Amino acid sequence: MLLRHPSSLRHDTGSHPERAARIVAIERELEARDWCGFEARESPPATVEQLQAVHPPSHVERIRALAATGGGAIDADTVVSAGSWEAALHAAGGAIAVVDALLGEDPARPRRAASLHRPPGHHCETAQPMGFCLFNNIAVAARHARDRHGLQRVLIVDWDVHHGNGTAEIFAGTDEVLFCSIHEHPLYPGTGLPSERGHGAGEGFTVNLPVPGGSGDETWTAMVEQVVLPIARSYAPQLILVSAGYDAHEQDPLATCRVSDEGFAAIAGSVDRLADELDVPLGLVLEGGYAVEALARSVAATLEVLAGPSAAAPVATGPRPPVVERAIASLAGRWPAVMPPV
Ligand SMILES: [Zn+2]
Repeated sequence: MLLRHPSSLRHDTGSHPERAARIVAIERELEARDWCGFEARESPPATVEQLQAVHPPSHVERIRALAATGGGAIDADTVVSAGSWEAALHAAGGAIAVVDALLGEDPARPRRAASLHRPPGHHCETAQPMGFCLFNNIAVAARHARDRHGLQRVLIVDWDVHHGNGTAEIFAGTDEVLFCSIHEHPLYPGTGLPSERGHGAGEGFTVNLPVPGGSGDETWTAMVEQVVLPIARSYAPQLILVSAGYDAHEQDPLATCRVSDEGFAAIAGSVDRLADELDVPLGLVLEGGYAVEALARSVAATLEVLAGPSAAAPVATGPRPPVVERAIASLAGRWPAVMPPV
């Protein structure tokens, strides 16, 4: 199931790279491919109560009131327009609807679903909208999976090129969410070092996997296959959610990574195979991606992989990229599964 809503086009950010043309391009591409075999539906709005499972009432009210008075800037990157409140409710509501579709009681429920909305969410912290994000859509969805469906372990894989600082902050103190983020570093927002591992009950359940600028398919796919997947198998999640950003694309203007359309398909294939292997459902929530045609093609490539049969694991050839070696070395104490068998 694909969740979408026309309100995504009415969050007006002017000439900002996070703009309505992103959704127009995605939907045009998907329509041409018959929605890659998915059923497309309009998302419901999130309720204020669902947002407040993550964000304090003052944060929710700030966005509502700003939109109601015609909008304004929250920071240099993050703006609210008159249409932003409705758009933000549906962006969070779409992510919740993904969870409900995947975990519902209908025996014919889908095993894969995606929420394709804007504004994105993963930079938004508990009480701080930032980085184009007004509410943290995937965090609201993960909380909903716990509160409504009783889940105790949700894996969030964040393959947006930027660190998902908001999601990391929201779940830093809990083991109910394992947050694995691959991101270019140094880059906005500056967080996401391997030493940020969560705290208290959440110690070790934040896994930051920074990669240097210029990293391409080889590094990104090796990081997913050889680090994220072994850790995820140990964690045994009941649901996998993906913060699916496409700004690691080689054509993206906001970062320098060099992932191709095929690279995103390979990354999606790895996570899809993980979901099959663990027999758990998989939901995607759109984050960034600012080269609009590349974004549209890469979203479609991802969805075609999710709609198709599980792909075989790639055969590793040659030595591991050094950044993957370093990640394995730093994580093997907490997550022994990342060590290759001897
Ligand atoms: Zn991003």
